[in-house]
Amino acid sequence: MKEMLGTKGLILNEPLLWERGKKGRIGFSLPRRDVESAPTDKDIEGEGPNFPDLSEVEVIRHFTRLSQWNFGVDTGMYPLGSCTMKYNPKTNERQAALPGFAGASPLLPASLCQGTLKLIYETERFLAEITGMDAVSVQPAAGAHGELAGMLIFYAYHKSLCKPRSKILIPDTAHGTNPASASLCSFKSVPVKSDERGVLSPETVASLMDEDTAGIMVTNPNTLGLFEENIRKVAEIVHSKGGLVYCDGANMNALMGIADMNAMGVDVLHLNLHKTFSTPHGGGGPGAGPVCVKKHLEAFLPVPRVIEKEGKYLLSEDFPQSVGKLHAFYGNFGVIIKAYSYILSMGHYLKKASQLAVLNANYIKEKLKGTFHLPFDRPCMHECVFSDKFQEPDRITTLDIAKRLMDYGFHPPTIYFPLVVHGSVMIEPTETECKENLDLFIETMKAIAQEAKENPELLREAPKTPKVRRMDETAAARHPCLAG
Ligand SMILES: *Cc1c(COP(=O)(O)O)cnc(C)c1O
Repeated sequence: MKEMLGTKGLILNEPLLWERGKKGRIGFSLPRRDVESAPTDKDIEGEGPNFPDLSEVEVIRHFTRLSQWNFGVDTGMYPLGSCTMKYNPKTNERQAALPGFAGASPLLPASLCQGTLKLIYETERFLAEITGMDAVSVQPAAGAHGELAGMLIFYAYHKSLCKPRSKILIPDTAHGTNPASASLCSFKSVPVKSDERGVLSPETVASLMDEDTAGIMVTNPNTLGLFEENIRKVAEIVHSKGGLVYCDGANMNALMGIADMNAMGVDVLHLNLHKTFSTPHGGGGPGAGPVCVKKHLEAFLPVPRVIEKEGKYLLSEDFPQSVGKLHAFYGNFGVIIKAYSYILSMGHYLKKASQLAVLNANYIKEKLKGTFHLPFDRPCMHECVFSDKFQEPDRITTLDIAKRLMDYGFHPPTIYFPLVVHGSVMIEPTETECKENLDLFIETMKAIAQEAKENPELLREAPKTPKVRRMDETAAARHPCLAG
């Protein structure tokens, strides 16, 4: 190792504000009262909450220190597979914070918010064009919420034909939220085993698809980072039995401007704006999971919908077959603004972003494949999946490798997911990282593999440098200490 991205230095201890507070200390001074004192409202009299007494500088230091303990994509490489932790350009935040948008009340009549309605309308059109689908609603608040919208649409579609169906096919490489969303709509999940190449085989789908099956939910690219290359054949089989094809498009970062979901035979798809379209995520911040459909399912989209009539934009609830409302007002508008700004500022470079994301993942895969076991040795999409098989003789596991990466200043990749690979390590570099960063990551992974052979104890005790060392994860789950 020539270089190391260490996280050492001045990282200070930080007690809770309650432990730090001292009775009587204040953070501000009120001006002297120039009216007579009056008793407060009966309702709010009494003890009040037990807030600690602190000075201004104590509060500022507390929150500044906590913010410095955080690791984000603005701090360093964050190769968390399936999450697309890419850099979100700050100009998109700036547009979302424009006072006209940030201050707009969602209760404004349409005539006073034409700009915001137009922005929603155009974002939906852009997303339709990027995916190849016909109609979009940006209302769902997250990926899984978009899936729920999609499954409600499946349910409503079959019901409208007076032929409700009870089952749904879900490949073993689908995201874990898929069966959960399906079961919320009362569908019973039927697992579909992927073949030895890590993708769906049309024969397996044909053997499971019947006329009580509402359709299939395919994650494409799947959670092995592989493109479902038989998707058209699979879609044909599902359609021939009257079923629908759902595509979990949370991994759209691999496909923008490259793959046409319509041509693949997809009927319903969701996107994760907080992965692909420039909203930072993690920590439970707001996201958006637009649901995109083909023409024949448009009537079922959630309401209200933004429609255009003679150059004016309106919110319409007049869709009697709609699955209903899924979010207050029209979803997380700030996230929609960021996606709009991102799409406009990227233009046709969206395709380049996807190409670079795929190139970066393949670069890492090729450079590390002799060092770590690669279960599916073939071109990947935006992420690559290794396992800890080569480290097994030294009794070093995926968890040890992930923890050791923290000592070197990298956020660990996704581990133990997807479940179809034992001890999986799923790396998604995204288009954000330059070649030097990728090389440093590769060099670090190789150094860790070497340590596994020469000094396995070091890995079992990792991480050594961060503030919080290796935790007993079972105890943390069983006896959580919520006080700090
Ligand atoms: C992230 C992800 C989801 C879930 O998205 P949330 O916004 O976390 O609900 C679903 N499917 C895939 C493939 C994902 O990567």
